[in-house]
Amino acid sequence: MDQLSQLHTGISILEMTYIIASILFIFGLKMLSHPLTARRGNAIAAIGMVLAIIATILFHHKDGKPIGNVGFILVAIGIGSVIGLIIAKRVKMTAMPQLVSFFNGMGGAAAALISMMEFPHVSPELIAKSGMANGHVLAILLGLMIGTVSWAGSMIAFGKLDGWIGDMRIKAMKYVNLTILTVLIGFIVYIMTRHVQASSELTPLIYIMFFIAVIYGVLFVMPIGGADMPVVISLLNSFTGVAAAMGGFLYNNQAMLTGGILVGSAGTILTILMCRAMNRSLLNVIVGVFGGGGQTNIAAAGSVKEISISDASILLSYSKKVVIVPGYGLAVAQAQHICHELDKLLEKKGVEVKYAIHPVAGRMPGHMNVLLAEADVPYEQLIESDEINPDLPNTDVLVVIGANDVVNPAAEDDPSSPIYGMPIIKARDAKNIIVMKRGMGKGYAAIENMLFFNNKTRMLFGDAKSTLQNLVNEIKSL
Ligand code: NDP
Repeated sequence: MDQLSQLHTGISILEMTYIIASILFIFGLKMLSHPLTARRGNAIAAIGMVLAIIATILFHHKDGKPIGNVGFILVAIGIGSVIGLIIAKRVKMTAMPQLVSFFNGMGGAAAALISMMEFPHVSPELIAKSGMANGHVLAILLGLMIGTVSWAGSMIAFGKLDGWIGDMRIKAMKYVNLTILTVLIGFIVYIMTRHVQASSELTPLIYIMFFIAVIYGVLFVMPIGGADMPVVISLLNSFTGVAAAMGGFLYNNQAMLTGGILVGSAGTILTILMCRAMNRSLLNVIVGVFGGGGQTNIAAAGSVKEISISDASILLSYSKKVVIVPGYGLAVAQAQHICHELDKLLEKKGVEVKYAIHPVAGRMPGHMNVLLAEADVPYEQLIESDEINPDLPNTDVLVVIGANDVVNPAAEDDPSSPIYGMPIIKARDAKNIIVMKRGMGKGYAAIENMLFFNNKTRMLFGDAKSTLQNLVNEIKSL
């Protein structure tokens, strides 16, 4: 085989592999939408990525030459894989959003680095040869801006979720952010109009643009707090996808393009769904300052009433319908297995038990579904909040386990509350309410919850796992 046909075979194998990888990404993503197939979907998408990487190393050619520095590339992949594996194995389920944020930030940084590396190589000759003229430079500039914002924003989100960065609330923040965004767009327009004549002289502007984009990413995420973090994480995720897709354009790499577009569009759809779940517009999330506040008058609310383990077990055992509302505290306590034991025990006694799942319960999208799937709770027992709410007036006992914001009636009653308008599980409609939590700690939005002071509510204080264990023991002994 002469050199030319070898090159041709290489290119066609490469393109073929990219198409197969893209199909695997799409199937993998589809399978992620159901807890039963999610694990396999993840593995299938990962196989697609491995194929794309191997094919690129073996068959990618630039100006007729194969890829160089293969040793360095393999060492870098090895180091990255080991670090990623260790972090992912060690991370606690409740720290998953931080991890997602961190990994997402790395994707944004990679896209930004590609742009910074490629811009100095853009020459009038290259543009004439690639026939992409402005498209080439625009892909570089957008990759730089979006990738950097995603990296800087994700690092701030990581710090906030991990609790070592607080909210920074300045009233004029949205005007500052709008100004910075306008400046960034101004840079793009200026470079686009000048690059053909003076590409190399423009390289320093790329670094200035990078620093401005870092500032924008930081200031964009700093004021967002309280219950809005899930929306921001998924928005930043979609940014990284778009930035990676720009790299795909740049290198004419179909797998990178498809992967980027899939992440970008899936992130955008998730962002829209989360906004709907919280009844807020995206603009309101981004420019609105959130978290804390509200005017709940705790003094006027009176005191909370407690229930003993034995009274709770009698109430539950002699009910017809029980609804469990799991929340972040269930994940913290790792009480999902004992919770499932309780529901099986009650079902054996003829009690109908369902779980009410709020879309933003816990600390990551689908957190409760994943947690309960881990404990083998049948998927049919998990009911979305919209669907279960009309049934709550017929529910004998609603058991809130480590949930707070997602059952807070302030979302319906208090227009000054930061969660006002967020759809909730209408816990107060149930005939009796038992709330399991350690004390009177607040939820993620850092506001009081009047449900705990409701006449129908009884508090069962303690760590969710030991409380549930005591309850199971007591019910068994009845
Ligand atoms: P919350 O964060 O509102 O409340 C959790 C409650 O659990 C706390 O009030 C705490 O009270 C209790 N708790 C903590 N540890 C334990 C334990 N070991 N045993 C028993 N109880 C415990 O949880 P929700 O699930 O109701 O709401 C989720 C919130 O997080 C929403 O505001 C959401 O917007 C936000 N969020 C969601 C994300 C997502 O993607 N799902 C991502 C980021 C934020 P106490 O200290 O008294 O025990």
